[in-house]
Formats: sequence, C-alpha cells, structure tokens
Amino acid sequence: MGDSPDNPDGLPWETVSEEDEAPSAAELEDAGQESMFGGPPPATSAGETLEKPAEQAVAASQPSDAPESAAPDPAQPYRVLARKYRPQTFAELIGQEAMVRTLANAIARDRLAHAFLMTGVRGVGKTSTARLIAKALNCIGPDGQGGPTISPCGVCEPCRAIAEGRHIDVIEMDAASHTGVDDVREIIEAVRYAAVSARYKIYIIDEVHMLSRNAFNALLKTLEEPPAHVKFLFATTEVEKLPVTVLSRTQRFDLRRIPVELLEAHFAEICRKEGVEAEAEALHIVANAAEGSVRDGLSILDQAIAHADLDTDSKVTAERVRDMLGLADKSAQRRLFAHMLNGEGKALLSAIDEQYALGVEPLALLRAQMDLAHRITVAQVSGGEADGVSADEREQLGDWATRLPAGQLHRLWQLLLKGHEEVRLAPDPLVALRMALLRTLHAGQMPDPGRLAKKLETLGESGPAPAPSETGATPTDASPQGRLEWGELVEAIDASGMMQEASIMRLQVRVVELSDGLLRYGRDAKFSDDIGNVLRDTLHRHTGKRWSVEEVPNGAGAPSLVELIEAEREQAAAATRSHPLVRAAFDAFPEAELIDDGGAAPQRREIPWSKNA
Ligand SMILES: [Zn+2]
Repeated sequence: MGDSPDNPDGLPWETVSEEDEAPSAAELEDAGQESMFGGPPPATSAGETLEKPAEQAVAASQPSDAPESAAPDPAQPYRVLARKYRPQTFAELIGQEAMVRTLANAIARDRLAHAFLMTGVRGVGKTSTARLIAKALNCIGPDGQGGPTISPCGVCEPCRAIAEGRHIDVIEMDAASHTGVDDVREIIEAVRYAAVSARYKIYIIDEVHMLSRNAFNALLKTLEEPPAHVKFLFATTEVEKLPVTVLSRTQRFDLRRIPVELLEAHFAEICRKEGVEAEAEALHIVANAAEGSVRDGLSILDQAIAHADLDTDSKVTAERVRDMLGLADKSAQRRLFAHMLNGEGKALLSAIDEQYALGVEPLALLRAQMDLAHRITVAQVSGGEADGVSADEREQLGDWATRLPAGQLHRLWQLLLKGHEEVRLAPDPLVALRMALLRTLHAGQMPDPGRLAKKLETLGESGPAPAPSETGATPTDASPQGRLEWGELVEAIDASGMMQEASIMRLQVRVVELSDGLLRYGRDAKFSDDIGNVLRDTLHRHTGKRWSVEEVPNGAGAPSLVELIEAEREQAAAATRSHPLVRAAFDAFPEAELIDDGGAAPQRREIPWSKNA
C-alpha cells in the first residue's frame, strides 16, 4: 500500500489487468519484489530465473546468468507467490479471525453496513479482504441460487470474475493515483445506476486517505445515503488521516499484523505446495523479516527460492536467506537498539547472542546499530520522516528522533564507533561486541556530560571548605588571612610578568609568617636549591621595599599554594566520586579517572569528568 508517491512501496499493487498471463514488470514490483531491499535486485530476480520473456525481466542483468530450468513447470508462466497465494476464501486469510467472525455475523443477520473500512499496515491483507467481502456479498453459489455468504463458493461466475479482477460491478480504484474530486464524481454518478449483473455494486477504494478534501466531501453525501445496491470498501494504511465524518459512516475492521508463528506456518505450507524444500530456520528468518506482512514475507520467499535455485540442492537454507537479506531482519536490530536505550542489559545480551546464533557477524551487527543512530540523528535534524523501508521502521525511528536528546545521540554514535574499532581488532569479536554494547547501554543511562557538570557545580558550591593537605604541614601556624594575602601577592607578581618567580613561590613556599617586609617560610624536604635570594629580589622588585626573607627548617608553615590547590582538587574529586551520578559513571566505566587540566583554578570547578575507557 502506498506510503509516499516516490517510494517503490507506494505503487498500487492491485490493477484491474492483474491476471494477465505473464506478470508485467510493474506487477512484480507491485508484489514488492524489490521494495523490501531498498536497492537494485540481485543478479537473479525471480522473473528471469523463471524464464520470463526478456523484455519483461525486471533486472537489467545478463540473461545468460539465468539457470537452464528453474521453473517447476515451464508451461505455466510464473506468478509471484504473493499473487498466486492470494487468499480466495476467508479461511485462507490468516491472522484475521476476529474480523472474519464479525463479518460472518453481519452476513448471517443481514445487517451489512453500507461502507467498510479496512485498516492496517501494508501487506496484512486489506485489499484481499476487500475482494473477499466483494465475493461474499455477490456469490450466487454453484447452483446460482445462493445468497450472501461468509464462504463464497469460488466457482460461480461472480466469484470467478471478482477473483480475476474483471467483474463489471466490482470497481477498484487506487486513491493514491486518483485523488481528485473528478475521480470521485465519476463514482458518484455511476452509483445511481443499478448493478449490471451482480447483487451489489461494490467500490473498492484503496489508500482512501489519499483522497483530497474536496473528494471526501463529494463522497460524503453518497456515504450518508447510498443506494441499497451499493457497498463501499475502503482500505487505508493511515486511518488517522481520514475525516471523522467518513469514519463515522463506515464499519471499521482493523487488520492485525500477522504473528511470526502464523507467517512461518503459512510459508511452510506454500513451500510444500511449490515443492520447495526449505529449512525451518530459513522460514523463521523470512517470517521475522516480514514484520507482520504476508505480502512482504512472500516477496522475500520468492527471492529466496530464486536464490536457492542457483544452489546445487535447490534448498532454501537459513544461511542463504541471511546472506540474501544481509541484515534485512531490521526489526531485530531495532529491538537490540531499544534494549540498549532502555538499559535492559540482560535482554541486550540475549538479543546479541540470538543474532550471533543466526549467523550475523559482530561487526555487521555493530554497523547496523551505527546505521540506526545515524538515521535517527538525520531524521531529528531534518525534522522530516525517518528513512526506513517499512512504515514500522520509519515510525520507530521517528519516535526515537523526537525523544532522544541530540547530545545523547552523538555520544551513542561515538561509543558505537569506538566499539566498532574494538570489535574489528579484538581476538574475540563477539566478546568485544557484548562489552561495547553494554558500555553504550550504561552510558545511555547517565545524563549527558553537560547536565552532569551542572549537577557537580551545585555540589561543589555546597561542599565543605578545603581540607589541609597530607604533607605534614601545620596549617594552624599561619592565619587564613595571611595565607590569602600570600596568594594575592603571588598572583600580582605573576601578573607583573615574573612568572618564573611566581611559580617558585607557589610551589615551594610554605608561609610561616608574612607581614610587610617580612617573609618567614618553610619548604618540603624535596626542595634543596637556595631560593632566598630569588624571593628577596622578587619581593623587592614588586613592592619597591627591602624584604627580610628567612627559611624555617623542617618544612614548617602553611601548605604551599600548589599544595592547597592539590588538596582542594583532591577533595573535590572525592566529593565528586561519592556523588551518585558519578558512582554510576564509574560503574559503567571502571577504567575511568577523574581528571582536571593542571592550570585550571579549582574554584572554577571545571568539568572533572572524562573517560578513557
Ligand atoms: Zn460464488
């Protein structure tokens, strides 16, 4: 069903002439032969494998590549599976039991609505259902005496004509290509005339949400009071785009996405009928990749069978299907991504193992995750629809694009990129992959560094005053006042251009006594050079006064300015480490360390957060 006009998926997949002997290129495309894979088809499309006339081959590849006798029955033109196994009875319509029951009741009680609306994702069988309803309403039974029935006979003329899309009273229209009011007006005109041969005149309008507002308005009057012989069957993938006035005048059937197990069984049955041998696991992969759509699944199966025909044993193997799909099991990739975002470590690990067991290479898996992060980011920046093959995928990516902060997406990318490198080089790529994705998961649970820094800033301001260093110095020897003056003095000396001297003062001098013209100080034992003259000279040049400078032995004095800075930094780090947010960070990055670039004044509380994990 159409998703957008320039999307190959968007081509109408029903045409009136669909039951032509050989499928046209458009028909093959209708059935989604290529659309699942986004790119050009592999060298062997189903078409050429099965010896279609050359001009109808979809792929532009060499006809000489085609195998000699691939078709099960060369006399029969090949029909794509999705078309061949279109359900002909409600019993064959898989996964929609609830709808069928409701409809059966309505028919049994003769309480049929004038208009039905079939909703659901592409490929769940909306149009097939519409045709079945058309048959159910118009079937006259093998003897020509029957009435409407939930089990159309399939043999009477109306049943056959409808199945073949040539019934004159069953009009199919694709609203995607007939959006205008004129198209609808044509219908409305025709509605007045009685059915030519059938009980009901039935209008099947696919992708009805594509109709223009005017077209809807024109349709409404007819919908309010349609002639008794007319039924409307609408199908849409985007029910929310329909006006309420239309919704209120239709009986709505929500067609469910078909569960994997049902699809699997369905595909197994089809393989049996086709005489194709297929591994159960292969069918499982196909069913998963189909994302609830019979049609998409059958398209993949078509292709898988074509691939299998190239093999010597003509068997559809899991390995082949995986190769063919690349990582087309996109839903599994998205689940993995979701586990990572939601912090579901256990589920993440088992999803990784599951993919690995399916034969997905760790590096390919990581690349797929990066690809997701990239597409989400692009969708976020462009503000448009996310890029994705299925509507499902687009929806999910779009959701992430609106929910995830840009900063988090970029960190995610960085972490995945780093993981990619690690996995590439690791002796055991699987282990490296697990670790890389777990790390990404844990990082995702933390606020981004910007917010973390803000919290730490608050924490720092409310933290206790700096503690003395552990150098054995006795800070009580000097008043805080004196210490502060010393600091100011040194900064002023530094600012006046005597940086070398200021640096010595910061590093070595433990002030014991400081007053105008007098400096008594101690030093750590590790300093041995004589700095007395340097200090005297510097203080003189700076203040213009003579200074008495005296070194006190045994390292006495208040901590040096450098020691103070170190102590303060140490304490800030301790406070930081004990902060719950940072503890979480260390849990995630055990190898991380708190660093601060040396020159920064501790008062500024630079972000002390970085990782080298
Ligand atoms: Zn019939």
